Amino acid sequence: MSNKYVIEHAKSGRSNCRKCKDPIAKDALRWGSITTRDEHDQTYWSHLGCVTEKQFTNALESYESLREIPGVGDDEDILGQVDQAYAATQTSANFDAAQKAQEKADKGSHKVEEKEAKAAEKAKAKKDAAAAKQAEKDAKAKAKEEKERAKEEAKAAKAEQKAAAAAAKKDAAAAAADDDAEAEDDDDEPIAVSKKRKNASMKPAKVFREGNRKSSRKDAIAAEEADAPCSPAAA
Ligand SMILES: [Zn+2]
Repeated sequence: MSNKYVIEHAKSGRSNCRKCKDPIAKDALRWGSITTRDEHDQTYWSHLGCVTEKQFTNALESYESLREIPGVGDDEDILGQVDQAYAATQTSANFDAAQKAQEKADKGSHKVEEKEAKAAEKAKAKKDAAAAKQAEKDAKAKAKEEKERAKEEAKAAKAEQKAAAAAAKKDAAAAAADDDAEAEDDDDEPIAVSKKRKNASMKPAKVFREGNRKSSRKDAIAAEEADAPCSPAAA
């Protein structure tokens, strides 16, 4: 069912505006919205200036143009006023729409700003946390590295010590070998010869098997014995 409208000069001053409730003056242009109920048409009147954009839109769905609304016809004065009223709703509608859009945009931009600030804060917190984590990681890695280095150094020191000990042992062995060799060579030496002979006269085999300290003690004993009255030195 299409909406029905009518536009006319008020026949009397008795009707009231549907929207603002004020009386509509006689002969003033009024907009009539016609509702059909129980096969009876009922017309609700409005000041032309109180007609909403929605009503114009509805009217333009029912009629091809404002001129087609019953009552307008060829009356250029009425058409001019209707056009003006419609233009006013468009302007105010546009104004309202623009205002609403602006409010929405402001609200939106405010929201966007808040969102961006929050996101930036979050990103910063994340970055800080990551940096802290990285620092901790670095510190741990450094500590590990230092521990490894200390371990390596200790290992190297131990190896060095071991090598030194081995070298010392080797040197000692070499020295001992030299001593033996010297001992062998010492046969020509007169004192050694005499000592050896004394040792040999006492317990030859045992003296050679025993260590230097013991043998030297025995040498001392032997020397003391040798110092006895019958020794050649005393004689
Ligand atoms: Zn009104």
